[in-house]
Amino acid sequence: MRRDVHGPTLPVKSDNQMAVNCDILIVGGGVMGTSIAWHLAQRRAGRVVLLEKSYLGAGSSGKSGAIIRQHYSNRLTASMAQKSLRVFEHFDDAVGGPPVFTRTGLVVVINEKDKAGLEANLAMQQELGIDVRLVSAQVLADIDPNARLAEDEIAAFEAEAGYVEAVQVVASYAEAARKLGADIRLGVEVRQVARQGNKIVGVETNEGRYNAGCVILATGPWAAQLGHELGVKLPVQACRTQVALYRRPPDFGRRAAIYADFVQGLYFKPTHGEMIHAGSLAGEETNHPVDDPDSYNEAADGAWLPPVRQRLSRRYPAMHRSYGRGGYGALYAITPDWHPILDKLPGLDGIYCSVGFSGHGFKMAPVVGQLMAELIVDGQAKALDIGPLRLARFDENDPVKTPYSYGVMG
Ligand SMILES: Cc1cc2nc3c(=O)[nH]c(=O)nc-3n(C[C@H](O)[C@H](O)[C@H](O)COP(=O)(O)OP(=O)(O)OC[C@H]3O[C@@H](n4cnc5c(N)ncnc54)[C@H](O)[C@@H]3O)c2cc1C
Repeated sequence: MRRDVHGPTLPVKSDNQMAVNCDILIVGGGVMGTSIAWHLAQRRAGRVVLLEKSYLGAGSSGKSGAIIRQHYSNRLTASMAQKSLRVFEHFDDAVGGPPVFTRTGLVVVINEKDKAGLEANLAMQQELGIDVRLVSAQVLADIDPNARLAEDEIAAFEAEAGYVEAVQVVASYAEAARKLGADIRLGVEVRQVARQGNKIVGVETNEGRYNAGCVILATGPWAAQLGHELGVKLPVQACRTQVALYRRPPDFGRRAAIYADFVQGLYFKPTHGEMIHAGSLAGEETNHPVDDPDSYNEAADGAWLPPVRQRLSRRYPAMHRSYGRGGYGALYAITPDWHPILDKLPGLDGIYCSVGFSGHGFKMAPVVGQLMAELIVDGQAKALDIGPLRLARFDENDPVKTPYSYGVMG
């Protein structure tokens, strides 16, 4: 059976049923696919169908930390985060559903020896109008009373940062797209993109044929597969990452910021039910490639959790008394330069990709939806120049460069 979002359960099509016709077909119901669907529906771009092989948010999106910060190491990605933040702040008005954004601020902690690099990065962000500044240990204590800074450590504070409710964002985009006429179908797996010569004509699925002159791949960690079928190499590797969860002790209090703690190689954020969500900031995921994104260890490794708590407790001594609540394994979709690919696929007419968000894409989803809709409807992205995110950059040896030593932030 196929389930439609908020709609009735539809019977599976039999072989002799007619193919479904649409104008634009999106593959993947993560935050990117649903954001693109909503933007295209808003633009009245024609009949939009989104096909998701399992359920909304089943890939990286549903497991995301969904930290929304503008601390990036180049202007393009910082601007993408900046534009998207403005949407998340008022998501209920802009898209619909309940509010999704909790503002906490973001603290970046580095070793003093890297101060010049941090200052240069802050200056770049300030030029874009982003509210970031260095803060002393005393100021940090006012912002977050539980935090400790060693004498040789430096902190910067981005006041506007926060996090969003990841699953709600995906659900709200899907619902808003559906209200504007988009057709969102779950349990439909795209097995092949259909073409006549160089022209894309639709997709083959477990339910049969969908005809469409325009197809968008928003397939997260699965991205390489459909590209391969088309003879296009999408350099996106699924890699396993892990998240640890700890319940804050009773005397922790309510205030907590998000941290990019480069001294510990750790990020962490407050989350529901007085919990802290923590994960690695060392870029170690590339050591854990996953061949089949449908089959990987979704539990956290037992041996990985205690050292994470130890590192967390160095920044937050109160967390020595925290309660471990386990964790989970999830997938990043990593490209060679850890930046996404937003492009039309070369040599083919009518196929686009929005893939490879490399563990930091959630915060960009609003502007990505807008940019992809512009690329498809207007023939080029207008809100920002996305040339640096073209697929050909890898063959041209022109990756997105991160001059900052903490470029793992993106
Ligand atoms: C643990 C974790 C923490 C993260 N933390 C942050 C963070 O703090 N801030 C941030 O900005 N980003 C973060 N990210 C990254 C962010 O979540 C991702 O970049 C983003 O969710 C990617 O969305 P997507 O739509 O591209 O991919 P996905 O969410 O993976 O969606 C792809 C979808 O495509 C479907 N699909 C694939 N192949 C097919 C097919 N053939 N037919 C039909 N459907 C198909 C899949 O089922 C899946 O639902 C984190 C990610 C993880 C895993």
